[in-house]
Amino acid sequence: MRILPALTALSLTTLGFVVTSPPALAGGGTPVKEPTAIGYGGAVATVDATATAVGLDVLRHGGNAVDAAVAAAATLGVTEPFSSGIGGGGFFVYYDARKRSVSTIDGRETAPATATDKYFIDPADGLPYDFSEARVSGLSTGAPGTLATWEEALDRWGTRSLAASLRPAARVAEQGFEVDATFRQHVADNAAAFGQFTSSRELYLPGGAPPAVGTIQRNPDLAATYRLIGELGTGVFYRGAVAGDIVGTVQHPPVAADPWGTWAYPIRPGVLTRADLAGYRLRFPAPTRSDYRGLTVYGMSTPSSGGTAVGEALNIIEAGLPTSATATDKLHHYLEASALAFADRNRYVGAYTDRSVLKKLISDRWGAQRACEIDRTKALVKPVAPGDLNGSGCATATAGGAVEEGQSTTNLTVADRWGNVVEYTFTIEATGGNTMVVPGRGFLLNNELTDFNFAPTQGTAPDPNLPGPGKRPRSSMSPTIVLSDGKPFLALGSPGGATIITTVLQVLVNRLDLGMTLPEAMAAPRGSQRNSAGIQAEAAFRNQYGPVLTPLGHTFAADVAELGAATAIEFTRGGGFIATAEPARRGGGAAAVVHPKR
Ligand code: GLU
Repeated sequence: MRILPALTALSLTTLGFVVTSPPALAGGGTPVKEPTAIGYGGAVATVDATATAVGLDVLRHGGNAVDAAVAAAATLGVTEPFSSGIGGGGFFVYYDARKRSVSTIDGRETAPATATDKYFIDPADGLPYDFSEARVSGLSTGAPGTLATWEEALDRWGTRSLAASLRPAARVAEQGFEVDATFRQHVADNAAAFGQFTSSRELYLPGGAPPAVGTIQRNPDLAATYRLIGELGTGVFYRGAVAGDIVGTVQHPPVAADPWGTWAYPIRPGVLTRADLAGYRLRFPAPTRSDYRGLTVYGMSTPSSGGTAVGEALNIIEAGLPTSATATDKLHHYLEASALAFADRNRYVGAYTDRSVLKKLISDRWGAQRACEIDRTKALVKPVAPGDLNGSGCATATAGGAVEEGQSTTNLTVADRWGNVVEYTFTIEATGGNTMVVPGRGFLLNNELTDFNFAPTQGTAPDPNLPGPGKRPRSSMSPTIVLSDGKPFLALGSPGGATIITTVLQVLVNRLDLGMTLPEAMAAPRGSQRNSAGIQAEAAFRNQYGPVLTPLGHTFAADVAELGAATAIEFTRGGGFIATAEPARRGGGAAAVVHPKR
């Protein structure tokens, strides 16, 4: 999404941008969309040029990484409303340069107090709902954590108020932005569901169809909601009028009397209450921590499985890769380690997994134990079994089923001139969330609770990710900060459901093992092995690496158009930044630095 090109320098100033300082904005007022920016003074990378420009502007005016991250995130809630926004949740990872420490905020959505492990079982027939039936319902919405995350991050580490941080985004919502092909496609993909709801179709199907590319999308309701929150604080969202509207939407979905098109399922109301919203609490888990090739890798702990899965896979690669490894060996180990880590994640990791288990999964000893499964000359038959936590050798447990999640989210990476770093992944789960815009408020509700397993997936073993009262569904989000000698070396994250884990892992392997520069590591074709028969891959990955991987016994599932939409920053000696976003995936992202290196 881009700010409408017709905007003049004057109107950009009213949006809060500094129009005189390239490269954030080009002459015509359209933020420049560059996937790579190299320089000094601070850096921002998001999927969207407007959000990146807003974040950069905050850095330029003396704001720190947290101030810039929140302002950019609020803007993504406007321009990337199908992947993020105050109706959802996420995970915020922060490196504090002064304290030299990494902290996290768990702003994951939370199930209603009345949820049970049968939450997604249809009482009429005792069977799990179809995914789409569960998603487009009030049942899928958990109490959102995004707004509380922004407020808390600013309070703890920022220098600006929430009101100030929401202001540029409110202006973008009010003045509008130009619809691009990605935005239009997201609406088109959701048109059948949006057409069922008065509020969603009014905002996103003007005249009965998705907005045309190049038209201006405005969201005055969201602008007003941001301003109301700025004025009254987050209480209005969690306990006040907005809370009432969220609960009203969940319990009485705004189904149109004359739905457009057909929707195959009944639209079920949910059970989220005002008490659930009022009772929402952030968590502050210690980050996961593991070592890889002399670097220290910090990630997100439960309820995300991202930190443990990325850390475990890296440990397996480190333990298993022969010193004489070829590039093919490295790719082979990346895929095998990923499958093994997914088997363990699916079996053991959920919101309530004991810390001792998490510690074990991310330990070098466990990595070595799991690496013994890998045969350099032959791919493992998938699915592989999870490892036995009480065993000492290779796996003895029985295989569990594969588990999948949705495919949409957004990610941003910000660093400031003082050395602070934010890696933040946030989402409303599926692209379009539960597809219900809260009437009069301009934001979509999440369907995050469909990240729970609807029914047990692990055979006779307990499933760690069944729904429960006040429980948070397991996530794959993997905001990751890598330190070298205690200082930031790399920060990265991505959307993509369960493929988030493999995208983050693959970018790390590309950069650290395969000798790529960071922009090359980001652009390289992606493949994802999540412990199922075939590798899910982009066609370019299959074409490029298939000839060396298939002789080892790797097989490929049907191609996918793209995996992930990552952002990353590498920290160079002398205080410089290499900020990167996708050159092509999801329409390309936007990286920027305060002082470009010329
Ligand atoms: N809901 C997913 C998770 O928490 C993220 C959705 C996505 O990125 O597509 O892991």
